[in-house]
Amino acid sequence: MLAATPTIEEVETTRALQTAARRWRAWRARRQPLDPENPPDLEHLSAEEVVAWGLERFHPGIALACSFQQEESVLLDILFATRSDARAFALDTHVLFPETYATWDAVERRYGITVERFEGPTLEEQAAAHGDALWARDPNACCAIRKVEPLGRALAGLDAWITGVRREQSPTRANARKVEWDAAHGLWKLNPLADWTEKDVWTRIHERDLPYHPLHDQGYASIGCTHCTKPGAGREGRWADDAKTECGLHA
Ligand code: SF4
Repeated sequence: MLAATPTIEEVETTRALQTAARRWRAWRARRQPLDPENPPDLEHLSAEEVVAWGLERFHPGIALACSFQQEESVLLDILFATRSDARAFALDTHVLFPETYATWDAVERRYGITVERFEGPTLEEQAAAHGDALWARDPNACCAIRKVEPLGRALAGLDAWITGVRREQSPTRANARKVEWDAAHGLWKLNPLADWTEKDVWTRIHERDLPYHPLHDQGYASIGCTHCTKPGAGREGRWADDAKTECGLHA
């Protein structure tokens, strides 16, 4: 015996129920807690897909850490193409290059956004407490005050952050995953460009005509504070006269 042909109303009701069920399963999947001991494997995803996954899962509790270097030129473009109300923050150490502040202004104008600013004490307050030119005597202490502590405040209340870490940047970054649990700060960390080469980054910047830090054209591959950055390939220009290689943000 043939089943009765469903009416148009019955077909539409079935479709609506199937759509609702699909949405509910997707919502439930997003709510499943992630296990820091067993992070999801996103290594097969593109940078755009990793950013989309992070925003879908964590927004508004996710933000891009922005130092206005070439990686952030790419990530800002992906981030705001995915969600116009996504979030980005920067650490203002008060000793950034004028070109860094100019790049900051340029990206805010391009995307019509405000990059959230986090900063430590004034240079005068630091000198009063620790003496002049702490960066020259104890750069680890200076980074702890001007970068690591403000980063802690930037990450407070977030569930995840996005960084421009790439594996080829340095041996300390060689094992970075596209998504990993950041035990030091107690939240998820997304490195969408983990498998990108420097050439990949510059190809994207030129393809998309993205704003980028002008010091890159003057031999600075990596750019931090004025006192601790020299021209150089990779990260060799950072704390070039010291054994220090990281500021502590990605420790
Ligand atoms: S990079 Fe240099 S000036 Fe900047 S916070 Fe670290 S030690 Fe201080």
